[in-house]
Amino acid sequence: MPNADNAGPDAVTAEARRIMELCNICRYCNGYCAVFRAAARRRRFSDGDLQYLANLCHDCRNCYYACQYAPPHPFAINVPQTLALLRHRSWRDHAWPQPMGQYFHRNGLAVGVVTLALVAVMVALVAAQGAGPAPAADDGAGAFYGVVPWGAMVAVAGLALGWSLLALGMSVAAFWRSTGWRGTGWRGTDGARPAPGGASALIAALAEAGRDALTLRNLGGGGVGCNDRDEGFSTARRRLHHVMLAGLALCLASTVTASAYDHVLGLVAPYPLLSLPVVLGTLGGAAMVVGLAGLAWIKATRDPVPDAPATLGADWALLGQLFLVATSGLALLALRATPAMAPALAIHLGAVLALFVTLPYCKLAHGAFRAAALLRAAVERRVAGRLKP
Ligand code: SF4
Ligand code: SF4
Repeated sequence: MPNADNAGPDAVTAEARRIMELCNICRYCNGYCAVFRAAARRRRFSDGDLQYLANLCHDCRNCYYACQYAPPHPFAINVPQTLALLRHRSWRDHAWPQPMGQYFHRNGLAVGVVTLALVAVMVALVAAQGAGPAPAADDGAGAFYGVVPWGAMVAVAGLALGWSLLALGMSVAAFWRSTGWRGTGWRGTDGARPAPGGASALIAALAEAGRDALTLRNLGGGGVGCNDRDEGFSTARRRLHHVMLAGLALCLASTVTASAYDHVLGLVAPYPLLSLPVVLGTLGGAAMVVGLAGLAWIKATRDPVPDAPATLGADWALLGQLFLVATSGLALLALRATPAMAPALAIHLGAVLALFVTLPYCKLAHGAFRAAALLRAAVERRVAGRLKP
């Protein structure tokens, strides 16, 4: 199949199986990443196996540029493209509740519409309650919570995030079961070998998977970096991903700190430039913008042949959604003591709410699915009796 992206769902699975079986004969790429080493532990590939391998892939593209059978060779081996398609399909197949899986169809458009709708609703609600200009910074009445009460903010965000985490957990649990967990112990693909070591082995595997997920180990390629844009090796994508995630963590810390300032210390916003919430929020927002801009630049300028066009809408939608969260947060900090604070707050809250609501049904789900795949890989290495095959 010259281009798996043109194929139907079953054909994508068939193409992934064809490729993995050929790779298992060739084995040239076994040093590049965990995908090939996990494939080498199998003689046959169930649909669950293939979706597991797809989520183990970090799209570093080492294997595409190394492959002597990549297009235009008649074998047309395109591992990153095929696994990207299958990865996207695995999120859809295991979505909870299942009808929401349809949301992954034309995901970029769906995420964009939901985001704009929620931003519009928040702006309309704030406008409808007649939020006037923010008072001067020194009278304490310019607090965000004067525009949207803290209780309402926490209740709505908490409900949305709680539901999304439940849905994502259910999705990943279904994915986990489909990859081989039977509830009585870990089994190899032949179904005959229980995992050794009990709870302590599982804890060790969890620690190893957590380290692999946080360090994006598989985005390091075979040790020389990824083929971010072309045949040249680079660590830019991995670093930018870390910068973006660090920014997100700082923004979260800023929100928590601001809440503590208000409810524990009794200090009402807006806070001074050098206060902890503002410093954390500014650094976090800036880091997110830098990381997202860099990732977008790589995506826009990289070799499109290993891409899976059907999944690009979801990629761009997530980048856009996070960019809106970061820039609206920075704008809110900049405008916090001006009359524009109320609409800026409404836009930021709408963007954050949209991120929470769409979390299990957009590309953001990839983090949880990938963590599960990394855990399975860590357990498998123990089943195979060696830590680093
Ligand atoms: S991607 Fe190509 S070179 Fe790498 S293992 Fe598969 S067939 Fe061999
Ligand atoms: S992680 Fe990289 S080397 Fe491994 S399968 Fe994916 S694109 Fe290929």
